[in-house]
Amino acid sequence: MSAYATATVAAATSAPAAPCDAAQPLPVLGRDVSVPLVTGGEVTYAALDYAASAPALQRVWDDVAAYAPYYGSVHRGAGYLSQLSTDLFENSRADVAEFLGCRADDHVIFTRSTTDSLNLLAAALPRGTRVFVFETEHHASLLPWERRAAASDVTVSYLDAPRTPAQAVETLEKALAGREPYGPALVCVTGASNVTGEVWPVRELAAAAHAHGARIVLDAAQLAPHHPVDVAASDVDWVAFSGHKLYAPFGSGVLAGRRDWLLAAEPYLAGGGASRKVERRADGGVAVEWHESEARHEAGSPNVIGVYAIAAACKALTEAGFDALVEREQRLVARVREGLAEVPEVKVLSLFGDDAPRVGVISFVVAGWNSSHFAAALSAEYGIGVRDGLFCAHPLVRTLLGAEDDEVGECGAPEAAPGERSLNAIRVSFGAGTPDEHIDRFVTAVRELVTSGAKWDYRTEGGRCVPVSVSA
Ligand code: PLP
Repeated sequence: MSAYATATVAAATSAPAAPCDAAQPLPVLGRDVSVPLVTGGEVTYAALDYAASAPALQRVWDDVAAYAPYYGSVHRGAGYLSQLSTDLFENSRADVAEFLGCRADDHVIFTRSTTDSLNLLAAALPRGTRVFVFETEHHASLLPWERRAAASDVTVSYLDAPRTPAQAVETLEKALAGREPYGPALVCVTGASNVTGEVWPVRELAAAAHAHGARIVLDAAQLAPHHPVDVAASDVDWVAFSGHKLYAPFGSGVLAGRRDWLLAAEPYLAGGGASRKVERRADGGVAVEWHESEARHEAGSPNVIGVYAIAAACKALTEAGFDALVEREQRLVARVREGLAEVPEVKVLSLFGDDAPRVGVISFVVAGWNSSHFAAALSAEYGIGVRDGLFCAHPLVRTLLGAEDDEVGECGAPEAAPGERSLNAIRVSFGAGTPDEHIDRFVTAVRELVTSGAKWDYRTEGGRCVPVSVSA
């Protein structure tokens, strides 16, 4: 791997990005943005929806800005900037592999997102694969297998929501022991839930999978931004995550792990970049030789900026130090949970209970409140951006709410009428860029809304709950 590109870009950067200090919130874009309050005045926006998309780290933005003038086509260009961009692109692969603790022969494939990565893996499953997945997964890790199953002889077993980490391992053990002891099998598991924030026992699940001859893919969309991921140490076969949740919102994601299934599979997309040689056959058709590297599944012109941004985020988080990042985030998690616990009307959603390790993702409902109404008031009256809905994890949220199937509205957009019983939940999520003040404002706002009610009238418009004066 050459240092050519990085040296050139670094030399051209007049103001190198400051190193990150994890004792403070890491600087993110938008940290000074003010938003209007419906009750009058303005306030700094409190972005507490990191689980959906986290703001870009300032450091990532600076690195991307430094590179942008040097942007060029990768892999095929003969010019200086093309070679420089190709070096940066391939260096980024190595940086991501290091960040993830990959094994030496693992592949790091750049995709669009976690959803894209898991669909890629689903498409690459050997024929006859049996997939095991908990019903608690985000739809991105629940549905790609089902789709592949519908089109081939892959089968999917859905496992019931466990109520403890140990029960998760037991449930998996039992399911795997019940399968025919031959043929490929894959377990798909989330690292941290996008609903409860609870961390799953990945290492133990990997051991159970391997003991029964199955492989395992880790959905690290919510884990990687909060916690170190170590592919080799946790012994997972693949890992997937998204740049936009890892402070690098430039449209790239990652699938990393074992190369054998990936190389044996047809390319995810057919096209240039994935093909090594294409020629007309004697019968008039076309014969293709596909690449035997990551390029096999990266057809088309890659998103160089997105890839470079992910690598920049990986380096920034590593330099800041996960120990300090985790320690600070855990302090914020405790503050939110303690604040919510003081409001008896609030019920925090949890599978594994109070003692479970968790990241900065917390969902809850408020007795007597429609969650959409509550979230709208947090935004309009306090400048706090959270999320309400089912968080693209319908089966899990239904289980946690104890709701009937036909009671629940559509993902993210149920009908919201102030005062009605809640059929969805509110999610607050935060991370490395969150200042303490945002957390304190949130806790205060919840208490005030519950004790004093909303100061404004709201109504449902286009499936969203909005303040009346703004929409009228
Ligand atoms: N997995 C989990 C646990 C998630 O929370 C999400 C998104 O919220 C995804 C997968 C899908 O990520 P993306 O939308 O970036 O593909």
